[in-house]
Amino acid sequence: MSCVSIMDNNLSITVDIEDWYHIPSVCGSTFSVYRDVEDFFEKWEGRYDYLTDPTKRVLDLLDEFNAKATFFIVADIVEHYPGLLESIVSRGHEIACHGLHHACVIDPNTKKALLSPEEFEKRTLKAKRILEKLSGEKILGYRAPNAFVGGWMLDSLEKIGFKYDSSVCVNSIYNKTDSSLKGVSTFPYHPEPNGLTPACETSHRQLVEFPWAYYDFCGFKIPTSGGPMLRFLGANMILKGLKQSLKRGNTVFYFHSIDLSPEVFPNVGNGRPMYWAIKGKLIENRIRHILSNLNNVNFIPLNACSDLQGTDFEFSKLIPQRSYVDLPNIETKYSEE
Ligand SMILES: [Zn+2]
Repeated sequence: MSCVSIMDNNLSITVDIEDWYHIPSVCGSTFSVYRDVEDFFEKWEGRYDYLTDPTKRVLDLLDEFNAKATFFIVADIVEHYPGLLESIVSRGHEIACHGLHHACVIDPNTKKALLSPEEFEKRTLKAKRILEKLSGEKILGYRAPNAFVGGWMLDSLEKIGFKYDSSVCVNSIYNKTDSSLKGVSTFPYHPEPNGLTPACETSHRQLVEFPWAYYDFCGFKIPTSGGPMLRFLGANMILKGLKQSLKRGNTVFYFHSIDLSPEVFPNVGNGRPMYWAIKGKLIENRIRHILSNLNNVNFIPLNACSDLQGTDFEFSKLIPQRSYVDLPNIETKYSEE
């Protein structure tokens, strides 16, 4: 039985909506200049909005390809950028949650929890409700701020009504999670309870994880889902990784709308000049190049990938069942591409 034959050729374009001050060196991490976004707004006196303009460009770009995407929005955006979320909803895209203030939930170095599950649930539920109130839609999806995610967080997400998470990025360069990610590939799966690795069929949770794309080169996995890698590696490597990942099943491409901003951001926080060295029109053109070269691929938001809307979600459909027994073979099969 071929794994490919039972899978759709779906790519979910995902866009993270956060501004320049949400990154960990400026706000919300153990090493940031400002304790959190609230502290930033108490002290910052200059212009802060570098987000509205590039978000409009992203919406126009997606329209060029008639693509509906999933926008992971930091909930405090609603307070400081009136009308921005509504402009995304009015173009028919899915709204999902990227945390209340984009603060790291696990320590970037130790991967230990920075919040209790109760506190995480309280803040995330608040974010979910803010986004639901404004969008008028049920929020099903979550992406961890800075993609720092732990298995215990998925238990909490499920408890407060999320149907999926999309934070896991398997690769040979870094691991931002508290798990080995053994057995995780680039297509959706049900993680085991209190963990991030794929569950067996008899012991799994309802929640689905949508991991990101990578390019497997002789066993070395290069992250090719987009984001900073789109800026540093360029369009062709990302495209190769997306095409290879699509052969394994549905997968995820992502970028931030501020990646398209041509402006110079305020010089706050260590290491920022390198982080934003490549962005603006160049990135917009790279995204255009990637989407133009994905022929016969459906661009669908994550909530359209399955029957996630249903209350009786089964273990199956969007997930290749065979992957649970012979994932290594799948990897070998496509590693030469
Ligand atoms: Zn983010």
